[in-house]
Amino acid sequence: MEEQHRLSPTAQTQPNEVPAQLWVGNDEQLDEKVREYLRSQLCPNKGCGSCACCRQIVDDRHHAVRWFCPEKYYTNDTIADLFETIAFTLEPSEQFFFILKRADFLTASCANMLLKPIEEPPPGYRFILLAQRLEPVLPTIRSRCSITIHTHTAQAASSHPLFEACATTRPADPSAFLKTLDSSKINERETIELLDALLRHWNNHYHTACASNKQTHLRILTRVITIIEEAIAQPPMPGSCKIFWKNLFLQIKACHPATETAHHKR
Ligand SMILES: [Zn+2]
Repeated sequence: MEEQHRLSPTAQTQPNEVPAQLWVGNDEQLDEKVREYLRSQLCPNKGCGSCACCRQIVDDRHHAVRWFCPEKYYTNDTIADLFETIAFTLEPSEQFFFILKRADFLTASCANMLLKPIEEPPPGYRFILLAQRLEPVLPTIRSRCSITIHTHTAQAASSHPLFEACATTRPADPSAFLKTLDSSKINERETIELLDALLRHWNNHYHTACASNKQTHLRILTRVITIIEEAIAQPPMPGSCKIFWKNLFLQIKACHPATETAHHKR
């Protein structure tokens, strides 16, 4: 206990540490990082990994940690007991962490209710919001959090074989793509990550092309970006990832100038 008393205030007074943090990355990666962080904050031995406190954190049984993970969107009910909890004043040495998974699924009404506690929580209460992507997180929430992007996600995405296949309009063998698709066993969540990475990739191309004012190129890039944006707006339903990727692949390849000319000749 002695040790914890010494540790907690130090952690709280780090100058750039605001009470609310927003971490962006893939679910599993964030889960692991949060537990690691909680251990570093709560374990009397700086996150030893073997004491009772560390084990409780790993098993989601720690008394000073409350996780929220809505099935779909957050409702006011989802976060009701957060407000009941913060009504209790903590001891000066105590910390309590709220972990809000899927912060990109906070409705405007829930977000509004959270603004005040996130910005100025009662002493000792801390918030960690997790999201797979940054853009869908409401700006009012984003602006009140210190944001950490776990770039591992972006790096992993750009070396994914499906990313590589869709990162160019250059013609490629569809049957080879289908084989890659089969062996990738991609799921809905990974699809969203890859789409984000693809959008960033194509946007970068677009900005480069703008700088050199290549009109034909810009037209193609605009089409590809529209295709990816539409795919992001209508992500695959469970079980439909394969057909989703097959369509995306064909659409992107159809933007290649040679393919385009062939279509016109018909
Ligand atoms: Zn420990």
